[in-house]
Amino acid sequence: MSKTLDHTTFNVETIRKDFPILNREVNGKPLIYFDNAATSQTPQQVIDVIVDYYSNYNANIHRGVHALSQEATDAYEQARRKIQTHFNAEYAHEIIFTSGTTHGINLVANGFSSLLKKGDEIIVSALEHHSNIVPWQMLCEKTGAELKVIPMNDNGELELSAFEALLNENTKLVFVNHISNALGTINPIEEIISKAHSVGAAVLVDGAQSCPHIKPDVQALDVDFYVCSAHKICGPTGVGMLYGKQDWLKKLPPYQGGGEMIAEVTFEKTTYADLPHKFEAGTPNVCGGIAFGAALDYMNAIGFETIANYEHELLEHATHLLQQIEGVKIYGTAKHKTSVISFNVGNIHPYDIGTILDKMGIAVRTGHHCAQPIMDYYNIPGTIRASFMFYNTKAEIDTFIAALKKAIMMLS
Ligand SMILES: *Cc1c(COP(=O)(O)O)cnc(C)c1O
Repeated sequence: MSKTLDHTTFNVETIRKDFPILNREVNGKPLIYFDNAATSQTPQQVIDVIVDYYSNYNANIHRGVHALSQEATDAYEQARRKIQTHFNAEYAHEIIFTSGTTHGINLVANGFSSLLKKGDEIIVSALEHHSNIVPWQMLCEKTGAELKVIPMNDNGELELSAFEALLNENTKLVFVNHISNALGTINPIEEIISKAHSVGAAVLVDGAQSCPHIKPDVQALDVDFYVCSAHKICGPTGVGMLYGKQDWLKKLPPYQGGGEMIAEVTFEKTTYADLPHKFEAGTPNVCGGIAFGAALDYMNAIGFETIANYEHELLEHATHLLQQIEGVKIYGTAKHKTSVISFNVGNIHPYDIGTILDKMGIAVRTGHHCAQPIMDYYNIPGTIRASFMFYNTKAEIDTFIAALKKAIMMLS
């Protein structure tokens, strides 16, 4: 990731032409979109796939004999195989389409409610998104299992020695995000997974923030479950995926009952369909799944190493300029981090700065970023978060820095 970028093959101006939304204005100013950690923008190539689907072969899948249904089914299953290849899953049926990260986590948490008992322990990290905290609290309430937390340090890194101390033969599950959405920290999931496995615990990794920047290999990681959302990887909202090792997916009970997920139904007994359909009750987001595949095609065509290298340049550029502004405090200074910068300026409320930046056409996120425990750790109500994708530019960062200086002057 520290390799330098070959600017002869990566041209951000060419890339930007793929994203129609980047041409628009906000409050009379060209849009500068730095809220990518919340949702990414969609390239024309993916928009075209969505338009093509609804223009030419929109149909329900898996149960129709007619041409449209077959075409839609083929495209949907092809997308599943693309996702399988991208994440290097052993089998296509280990990829479950979901409505997003939150759905994937809840599906696993619900499944484990029939496997856990009082005295069992679940470990989450202090760096989690609320969607990776609340479902486990609900699971603990249901089963009597106990929730433990891997603490973090001032740099926004997890304390691995404390994690080791928490592990014991009662530990059944460990949940950690690959990259923190609030701070950008890249967590050492390889180590976390192997340590968790040494006591027989399963590991679910929340990849919502990592998938836009790196290409995870689920077999090399030996991870049990991995989840992400398409809308953070240049795809549409409302679709995502859960990877689960075949053995685990067979063991877990279905999440929702309905059409698609059954083999046979009588009023006495229902038998469930094979994987992946057991977890895909009802009509899925067919178009979304196909567009998810197209989004991965788009990103792979640029190349994840190229993306990571370029975004690292953006991160360094922005960090350097921000550090020169008096009163700026950056939260999350982990050695390994992605292109997310969380910061505050003196005692100015993040919301006030965010509002002024918006007037100047600049979209940043302000608040607790669905990670209140992190904010509590730093004893702050929230931060301003600027998060960059490969279609952002250093010139946009320069404009943002100038606008930020103006906002600070207006507010102090
Ligand atoms: C965005 C995000 C989620 C939630 O994703 P949804 O698409 O809203 O389900 C969970 N975890 C992390 C780390 C995220 O960044």
